[in-house]
Amino acid sequence: MPTSIQQDNVTQLYLKIALDTPLDTCFDYRWNGAPGDAVPEPGQLALVPFGRREVVGLVVGVSDSTEVPADKLKDVLAVRTQLAPLIPEWLALCGFAAEYYQRPLGEVAVPGLPKNLRAEKPVSLERALKKIAKFALAHDPKPANAPVLNPAQQQAADAIAAAEGFAPTLLYGVTGSGKTEVYLQAAAQVLARHADAQVLILVPEINLTPQVEANVCARFPGVRLATLHSGLAEGERLLNWLSAHLGHARIVLGTRLAILASLPRLRLIIIDEEHDPSYKQQEGLRYSARDLAVWRARQLQIPIVLGSATPSLETWQHVQSGRYRKLELRERASKDAVLPKVRLVDMERDKPGEGLTSSLVSAIKRRLDCGEQSLLFLNRRGYAPVLACDACGWIGNCPRCTAFMVLHRPEHRLRCHHCSLEMRIPKSCPTCGNVDLQPLGRGTQRIEESLQLVFPQARILRIDADSTRLKGSAQSAFDSVHRGEVDILVGTQMVAKGHDFRNLTLVGVLNPDTALFSHDYRASERLFAQLMQVAGRAGRAGQKEGGNASEVLIQTRYPTHPLYGAVMAHDYDRFAADLLEERKQAGVPPFMYQALLRAEARELDTAIAFLQHAAHCVEHPGITINDPIPMTVTRVANVERAQLLVESPSRPALQSFLKLWMETLRATRTRAKWSLEVDPVDI
Ligand code: ADP
Ligand code: ZN
Ligand code: ZN
Repeated sequence: MPTSIQQDNVTQLYLKIALDTPLDTCFDYRWNGAPGDAVPEPGQLALVPFGRREVVGLVVGVSDSTEVPADKLKDVLAVRTQLAPLIPEWLALCGFAAEYYQRPLGEVAVPGLPKNLRAEKPVSLERALKKIAKFALAHDPKPANAPVLNPAQQQAADAIAAAEGFAPTLLYGVTGSGKTEVYLQAAAQVLARHADAQVLILVPEINLTPQVEANVCARFPGVRLATLHSGLAEGERLLNWLSAHLGHARIVLGTRLAILASLPRLRLIIIDEEHDPSYKQQEGLRYSARDLAVWRARQLQIPIVLGSATPSLETWQHVQSGRYRKLELRERASKDAVLPKVRLVDMERDKPGEGLTSSLVSAIKRRLDCGEQSLLFLNRRGYAPVLACDACGWIGNCPRCTAFMVLHRPEHRLRCHHCSLEMRIPKSCPTCGNVDLQPLGRGTQRIEESLQLVFPQARILRIDADSTRLKGSAQSAFDSVHRGEVDILVGTQMVAKGHDFRNLTLVGVLNPDTALFSHDYRASERLFAQLMQVAGRAGRAGQKEGGNASEVLIQTRYPTHPLYGAVMAHDYDRFAADLLEERKQAGVPPFMYQALLRAEARELDTAIAFLQHAAHCVEHPGITINDPIPMTVTRVANVERAQLLVESPSRPALQSFLKLWMETLRATRTRAKWSLEVDPVDI
């Protein structure tokens, strides 16, 4: 309903409002506008009483009737008119996400809005709006100082920009093939063609935003860029969100949450490293930003680019079936740069001392000798995953979880990585008094210590969640690597992806073997992607004169494992084909659609009983309902957890079952807390 419609004197109007509550409904309120007031419209925010509180919700409908009895109806307290209404396409996106992920609309739409807009007291937007208006719109979105694209890059950029309508494209480019440059030049063409167009670029990690931000700013001087991620201060977030919402920001760069931003003139979506698990939100509304992005592109009939050197099998399958188009970059972009040689170091033959094999030590030494950098990748933070007593067999378990306490030696602490419980390191065994407790296994801190012993002169830097707790510390750590102040970098997956290290010629991978034997069928897909990504950090610039050729050393006890063979051959195609065939045989995604019902309670029996009830409470033709099972880490913070997997080869069949199922379960009384995840990735 357009704002030009004015309230007459007779008709009573009601607003349907979505609120951020777990109740799966929208709420009707009476609107008492003065004569002549503009009638509120869907997409506006309104303050309403809810229980004992006053909350801001989203107007989703305006009507002259309601089924709510008059004595139950409450009045709208205020409609926030400062903000241009959110447009129907955005409301439809939230509506789709709510329906698909089986959550209330308000829970999807409202929490994503900046806090200032949702505050009980109206916050003046005047200052923010003035600030935004100051940035004049640029008319010259042609990238400055851009390198000349190689023919494959040029072809890809042109093909992306030339696409009309919904055109999902996989940009399949080896690590270092210059995918970023393709995104930017395709974006430039789209921005040049449409005077007010917006481009959305998603990256998987908050730590990658500064690098892309710098690239965008250098290439598009004068074009307004807005960044959206969870690390922004509230004021900044409001400013950036508003400039996207008002269409001032021509390029919006963000992590997964940016997929729910209001972008009224969106013309192109780019998802960098589309395979990355970080695109999946793992709590609350457990959405896949990549999947929502594809939906959004289809809704708007615009092109979307999914970039990766190791695409997800879901995306790869869409390429095989012809739904997505594939553009390929086979070579590295920088002059003379080639993919690194991958070597396996057999740990049975070359026995590691303190976690490092002699092959790896001498490879690092060769880098130190000519001023090049090395990166050691170990996906386990802390000093050692467990502390144990040799004398009596005691092991440091978390008293609240089915998990070990991780030893953090520099912090003098044992920490549970599941419930965050911390304690001092015991001086002696709590069971037998033995004072010689042993750390078992190795984390990044222990490897850092080994390196300090072997290379006392080297500048060693560890980057993981522990070393980068302080805001801004991750960025300054990465900056110092780029400035060449670091010889050896040790880190978890934080260092493995995306970064364009220019002087790094060696990657060492420690202990990747455990993932080979995981019960999770996705483990090998992930391990392969992770190894290809981390390998991709080496040799991104051409070989220096007198310098080393780039190489990757993987320390393993299973050097004949076919997964490593595929990594050595840089052969994603074969690996993906084999894996897809296996998945087809096994009847798992992407050939099956799944949802996971989780339940938790003080007693495991309560959780299981609820799931057992859930398994039988609704008829389910065409749906397979598996047995309820305890989760792998069953107890976390003294809560027992169990899960129930449901699946179907038909997505629509699964969706209609879920809708009915959720209605029934919401009406079920239970002491268990439960939640549903659609398209789960960790099962
Ligand atoms: P990817 O995302 O594919 O791993 P990047 O986009 O980070 O690769 O590019 C790798 C490196 O190659 C970057 O340093 C980039 O500046 C450089 N590069 C990209 N395109 C070209 C080009 N056409 N000529 C020279 N260097 C390029
Ligand atoms: Zn003991
Ligand atoms: Zn714990």
